[in-house]
Amino acid sequence: MKKLILLGSTGSIGTQALEVARAQGYQVTGLAAGSNITLLEQQAREFKPVAVAVFNETAAQQLKISLADTDIKVLSGEVGVCELAAMEGDTVLNAIVGIAGLKPTLAAIRAKKTIALANKETLVTGGDIVKREAAKNGVSILPVDSEHSAIFQSLQGAPKGSLKRILLTASGGPFYGKKREDLENVTVEAALKHPNWSMGAKITIDSATLMNKGLEVIEAVHLFDVLPEQIEVLVHRQSILHSGVELSDGAVLAQLGTPDMRVPIQYALTYPQRGVCFEHLDLFKAATLTFEKPDTETFRCLPLCMEAISRGGVCPAVVNGANEAAVAGFLAGKIRFLQIADLVQAALEKAPNIPQFTVEDIFAADAQARALVAESIR
Ligand code: NAD
Ligand code: MG
Repeated sequence: MKKLILLGSTGSIGTQALEVARAQGYQVTGLAAGSNITLLEQQAREFKPVAVAVFNETAAQQLKISLADTDIKVLSGEVGVCELAAMEGDTVLNAIVGIAGLKPTLAAIRAKKTIALANKETLVTGGDIVKREAAKNGVSILPVDSEHSAIFQSLQGAPKGSLKRILLTASGGPFYGKKREDLENVTVEAALKHPNWSMGAKITIDSATLMNKGLEVIEAVHLFDVLPEQIEVLVHRQSILHSGVELSDGAVLAQLGTPDMRVPIQYALTYPQRGVCFEHLDLFKAATLTFEKPDTETFRCLPLCMEAISRGGVCPAVVNGANEAAVAGFLAGKIRFLQIADLVQAALEKAPNIPQFTVEDIFAADAQARALVAESIR
């Protein structure tokens, strides 16, 4: 029986991963969350892991008291989350949001766990280092992001060197078809209304700005060893074709399905086997599939991410850090929607050029980008 450690268990991906764990009968040996200890306690009582970790120290202390009648160990802080990621278990599913996921991924890789990766910021900020560590430790990184899972599934059976192009689909988000002038005064509520997916707040805003697609381009560059120019982003409103590949002979292979994150989560956990069916795709109902070029004039975060990965070094970490801070500012009502891209651009313009970088350099670049955003938000 697979032993699963789940980081970010109380979030959108985390709770769906637990549905998959129930369906597959996995043993869950570790659970980690940021601060939502009410749900974490419920999950701990159901799955009886060896340990749980809570990033927030105060919340961890409270949970320790609540779980005092059990023999579940309660760890705390970033150190505790990293410790949990290296504990008893075969696979670590990282569903933490933001760059906070990077160190736990590295800790899991160094403990030789298979990585099921939902936390895209891990590869966006630390791609080169993460890949080097994974190779050194003989660890596989299996994508959970639906597009990357679709690409990975499409590549099964494709001979090495046959991948010509990646076709990365995007829903277009809630503001599809809008122009800059329409987006001056959009509310947080409107930006949080995604047409096809129900997700955590940060990634939902990233979908509205198309930053999410930009982050996914960077993620794909690392996962599939391609150049940014080999990735074509297609706006596909129906979210049925989850992404695909074009091979050397011009054949296009893609994965289709209903928009349901349990499918890619499950595939990352059962790979190379296939799991259970959660929902059947009725192509007659889907009927029409459309593909369009993204509007990069209006949604500038996408080209900014392309520029960041082309420049390389810590540039992707800079755009990511600026975006995390700007999205937090937008969600808190402190900045306007269009300012998110402005702030990401301003940070990228000031990004240091460090071709050979360390984990410390990544966090320094992240902090610098966040400080720049904080200055403009005050
Ligand atoms: P979410 O906000 O719903 O959940 C985030 C989880 O991480 C929560 O359990 C939270 O408690 C935990 N967390 C936050 N900070 C933490 C920290 N410092 N240490 C430990 N735990 C921490 O987010 P989500 O929508 O589930 O997304 C998670 C990740 O998966 C993101 O990187 C996102 O881009 C990616 N992703 C999500 C979806 C989706 O459908 N939700 C799809 C593709 C990729
Ligand atoms: Mg995605």
